[in-house]
Amino acid sequence: MSNRKGIIIVVSGFSGAGKGTLMKALIARYPGYALSVSATTRDPRPGEENGREYFFVSNEEFEKLIKENGLIEHAGYVNHYYGTPRKFVEDKLSQGIDVILEIEIQGALQIKEQYPDAVLLFVMPPSAKELEKRLRGRGTETDEVITQRLKRAKEESIGIEKYDYIVVNDDLEECVDRLHQIIGAAHQSPMRNLELIDTIRNELNEL
Ligand code: ADP
Ligand code: 5GP
Repeated sequence: MSNRKGIIIVVSGFSGAGKGTLMKALIARYPGYALSVSATTRDPRPGEENGREYFFVSNEEFEKLIKENGLIEHAGYVNHYYGTPRKFVEDKLSQGIDVILEIEIQGALQIKEQYPDAVLLFVMPPSAKELEKRLRGRGTETDEVITQRLKRAKEESIGIEKYDYIVVNDDLEECVDRLHQIIGAAHQSPMRNLELIDTIRNELNEL
């Protein structure tokens, strides 16, 4: 559709639920989405590249970004800052491209306030035991940080009702397709098609 508007898709979920894996698989299968790269003060994990998974910055650099209004949202998560650079998101939306933000709940709620037509998706693991298994199996955090992240998951579970949709990440490929279908359906909602509604009303008045 030529006048299709880009929307923000927020993807949240407990650490270890599989958000990063899912987003990579989604973009690989459906390359039309733009995935926002966040800034963070945490250290890169083995295999992560500056500018690809995150922009890895110092505390001072992060605070400068906040001061210059360079972030559309930011939040603290287990001892570190995370935030979404403004320019990439605004550029893609203005080109009619959907932008995916893989961010935690405080940031998700800041986005919903600024962009009421954003779609908020929550990725769930099949069970809490499976979550712990995935988080430990990833092998990228110390036991202490894993414990903090599981504690944070408990807190985040209180906010799940604020999201528009839940997707259970059981079979990865099925989950990717469900995500794509939900985004497609969201584009068809009346609130995201106000111009189309206006046009048909005007046309009806002129009959
Ligand atoms: P998050 O980004 O939510 O913290 P990751 O994408 O890093 O989570 O995934 C955590 C671990 O779980 C990784 O080792 C990943 O390979 C694994 N994983 C992700 N999705 C699935 C899935 N559907 N089934 C089994 N393992 C998965
Ligand atoms: P991780 O350290 O595992 O990559 O990410 C930790 C948490 O921070 C995850 O819940 C992830 O979704 C969230 N996160 C990543 N980038 C951002 C961001 O730009 N803003 C916010 N608010 N959260 C983010």
